[in-house]
Amino acid sequence: MKQKNVCIIGAGIGGLTAAALLLKKGFSVEIFEKEPTVGGRAMSIQMSSQTLESYKQTLTKYNTVIVFAEPALEDIFRENMFDGFTLDLGFHMIGSGIVVKLRDILGESFEKVTILKSRLFEQKNDHFGYFATTADKIAMLPNIARLLLSREKTMRELDTVSMTETIKKYGKGKMKIILEVNARLISTINNLDVISTGEVFRTQKDMRLGGVNYPQQGLLKICQTIAEYIEKNGGRLHLNTPVKQIIIKKNKAQGVIADKEYTFDIVVSNILVQELFSIADEQLFPTDYVTTMKALEGTGSLCGYYSLKNMNPDLIGKSFIFIERNLGVEGNDAVGMIDFITAKPEAGLSPPSRYLVQSYIICTPKEARDKKALRTLKEALDKNLERIIPQYQSQLEWAIYPAIWHLDGVAKTLMNTKPDIQTPIENLYLIGDCVKAPGIGINCAINSARIIQEILNKST
Ligand SMILES: Cc1cc2nc3c(=O)[nH]c(=O)nc-3n(C[C@H](O)[C@H](O)[C@H](O)COP(=O)(O)OP(=O)(O)OC[C@H]3O[C@@H](n4cnc5c(N)ncnc54)[C@H](O)[C@@H]3O)c2cc1C
Repeated sequence: MKQKNVCIIGAGIGGLTAAALLLKKGFSVEIFEKEPTVGGRAMSIQMSSQTLESYKQTLTKYNTVIVFAEPALEDIFRENMFDGFTLDLGFHMIGSGIVVKLRDILGESFEKVTILKSRLFEQKNDHFGYFATTADKIAMLPNIARLLLSREKTMRELDTVSMTETIKKYGKGKMKIILEVNARLISTINNLDVISTGEVFRTQKDMRLGGVNYPQQGLLKICQTIAEYIEKNGGRLHLNTPVKQIIIKKNKAQGVIADKEYTFDIVVSNILVQELFSIADEQLFPTDYVTTMKALEGTGSLCGYYSLKNMNPDLIGKSFIFIERNLGVEGNDAVGMIDFITAKPEAGLSPPSRYLVQSYIICTPKEARDKKALRTLKEALDKNLERIIPQYQSQLEWAIYPAIWHLDGVAKTLMNTKPDIQTPIENLYLIGDCVKAPGIGINCAINSARIIQEILNKST
């Protein structure tokens, strides 16, 4: 049988993973990426090579803006304070389930990536303690076991049940706070009324209940490793080559127009679904489909990066979670993380004798563009860092606060349904964190790649 040619539009982590999986199944794969680098939102930026303008432009491409900076961003660049730092677009952290999946897919090639890990900590009154202690875990064991053993059928029954209802029913003592915090961390949404219990449990199970992980040298290292795997295994990567149009004839995707016209058997789009109709003629899709896709909302957050001149060695390598009550944001309480894995010298993200701290607090995309809400969220971030490092300001070299209103491509809420991987057009598929696949963020993007591999493998 003729080997099928697949075109993937976008070299985000979803597109790259799909390419790696399809190559393994014998498909011929070409990826088109509009930017000069792979990675999309899983981006890490070498700050020494940036100017104020280039940094701002990079952030703008990914719906991100620096809202606050200390000192001013202009001064940070003028004084070369960013030299030697590598920063992602904003806070990133991945679950152990993601690491396991990538190891499965890439085999030996993944050995080039060194993963640093932490359990989740919280600032107790006078010490740093585990968020869920061993005693907490034993007390919750029956519930945890039930979660790990529950089938997809049970998850589906819980898909329409809000976390508010679940917490009312099961949330007692420590279990209550764990459900409140985990549901928010997993969904990147603060409002428990709109978070689906099924989705939270499914993701929690998929993440393997492990701690949090971050790769040495930044998240981009993972994407670069997948890209190397693709090229080594015969895939073609066209960087700096935006797709201008998907060729659709007789309700069938037949190729793309990029630097020239290309013919393909299958076209897979990894771009934000809200932008699909900038490269596909919307007249060729059902009107309802177009309207729904354009209206889909993402999720947001305010991040904080802090460069500190000194640090308590006990803190280095630990990841903290916090919940800040009554902030008046949607959901009223907001959850966030403050991470010191990035402060480890072997993380390779900061120059010698500087300690990089990454943090974020969840908000809605609307709040991520509202200076007043952002001011409240910034104060919450700083206050929680202060709780962990009293008078951290005396050690502060610089701090920047990027706000993002497209953290997840599409928010997974009870009302907001992610589109299917299969589109109404034959041979045109969608992948990435915008589509229906288990998990949120990177997990969703990787799972969508696994699903497209199954769909295409079955259909040939
Ligand atoms: C600041 C921030 C923090 C985050 N934190 C986390 C986290 O802690 N954990 C987590 O799991 N997730 C997190 N996420 C989400 C995670 O980064 C995304 O879910 C994931 O990177 C999305 O991958 P993707 O492949 O679906 O899409 P993308 O990364 O958006 O990739 C799409 C690619 O398509 C390219 N493209 C667009 N148009 C065209 C065109 N016309 N032609 C060719 N190429 C095109 C883009 O340049 C891009 O490279 C975070 C996101 C942000 C922004």
